[in-house]
Amino acid sequence: MSDLSQPVSPRRAASSLNVLLAVCATAIASFAFAPLEVPADTRLSTPDEAITSLMDGNKRFVKQKASAHKIELDRADLAAGQAPFAAIIRCADSRVAPEICFDQPLGSLFVCAVAGNIPTLEGIASLEYGVAVLGTKLIVVMGHSECGAVGAAIEHRGDTSVLPGSLPQLIDQIVSPCAMTVDPADPDALAKATECNANLGASELVKRSTVIKDAVASGKLKVIAGVQDLASGVFKITRR
Ligand SMILES: [Zn+2]
Repeated sequence: MSDLSQPVSPRRAASSLNVLLAVCATAIASFAFAPLEVPADTRLSTPDEAITSLMDGNKRFVKQKASAHKIELDRADLAAGQAPFAAIIRCADSRVAPEICFDQPLGSLFVCAVAGNIPTLEGIASLEYGVAVLGTKLIVVMGHSECGAVGAAIEHRGDTSVLPGSLPQLIDQIVSPCAMTVDPADPDALAKATECNANLGASELVKRSTVIKDAVASGKLKVIAGVQDLASGVFKITRR
């Protein structure tokens, strides 16, 4: 068994040119993604090993023992390519940073950010690229405590149209399924809706993407959800 107690260094996997050529060739040939010839990462070959690496990293972060970003970077190696073992949808909240929360070096996490960690069409397409082209083994929908987007969904669940700009369209995606299921007077309403929203995001990914669904069915990919508590730093998995 590989030692997963330390952060995994980014591996030189494929040049940007090779990635571009692979995507173009595949699109022309079949309009479908085909896996790129990425060298197998011997340390993280399964979705479960990816989960273990993230959770070990979160333990280091919580104990203030994070080490991934103290490692001297090989910038030429980093610029040459990427083979992230996990992809993450995170909230845009400035207090949430997966590379730090999971103590992982640059090149190891493929991160999409949107308020409320909602799986938008663009986010799903980005994750499909991570899975089909980069060989990502794990997707994490990452909610967090004190989420303003989820809070707004609860506060304005009667009428999101009072929110400015495009916010109603975004918040509505949380309102109907999750904010409407909690009692606003419940002190745990925000926590409950946040967990619901993260779990829903994970199930939506599998439902709305055949690329992700097929990878899950083949055992090459797992999609999980969880919530990071900002006060303690602890990330808790809420859906496997
Ligand atoms: Zn948030």
